[in-house]
Amino acid sequence: SRARAVIDQAREDGRAVLSAEEVYSIFEAYGIPVAPWAVTDDAAQAVAAADRIGYPVVVKVDCAAIDHKSDMGGVAVNLADGAAVRAAVEEMQARLGGHGELRFLVQKFLPGGRELIIGASAERELGHLVMFGLGGIYVEVLKDVVFKIAPVTRVEAEEMLSGIKTAALLDGVRGEAGIDKQAVIELIQRVSQLLTDLPMIQEMDLNPIMAFADRAFAVDGRIRI
Ligand code: ADP
Ligand code: MG
Repeated sequence: SRARAVIDQAREDGRAVLSAEEVYSIFEAYGIPVAPWAVTDDAAQAVAAADRIGYPVVVKVDCAAIDHKSDMGGVAVNLADGAAVRAAVEEMQARLGGHGELRFLVQKFLPGGRELIIGASAERELGHLVMFGLGGIYVEVLKDVVFKIAPVTRVEAEEMLSGIKTAALLDGVRGEAGIDKQAVIELIQRVSQLLTDLPMIQEMDLNPIMAFADRAFAVDGRIRI
């Protein structure tokens, strides 16, 4: 499969952490919805990609040595035009260039969603443990997550959504819209399938998933083999 070929190449290169291009390619191969994206090498390429994707966009640094991009100032959101994209890339090149070779992910900015997390880790004998919960700052503060062992059935994925303490938030509170739970249930199952097919994955995170009333997209992904 295409996903397997991507992982075999990383293995052959001796790389444990996959690049953004590799991660999003694998997600796409499994039909996991991702925000429109392109990986670029410099400001000119990033502007051309943003013109194609349509504004506003996000620019993110892509570098094997940088794990938490926003902690390093490696995420610039809500960029309205080519000048803002160019400035974001040049600023990251100047400040983060010392960490190694930098590439730049250009991604559609998708504001106003609820941030969810899906995580996975390989557990000896068990296979993969799949985690679901509220993402963003909530995941650290509330530690409100649930776990299942892959493969995760549809019923189990439904149980994951209803199993977090803040499950009511997914339905919307005080008149705000709930999220598309079916889309998230589908997404969890696709992640489960990916893990079942690719047992060499040691760790994977989709954090956040941006969930809206009628769809859900991964906007950040990490895979370690
Ligand atoms: P990291 O986790 O490495 O710091 P992320 O890609 O998760 O980097 O970006 C950090 C935060 O920026 C996300 O948690 C989210 O709040 C916001 N963000 C990232 N990408 C998008 C996007 N495409 N649309 C809207 N918000 C985004
Ligand atoms: Mg993230």
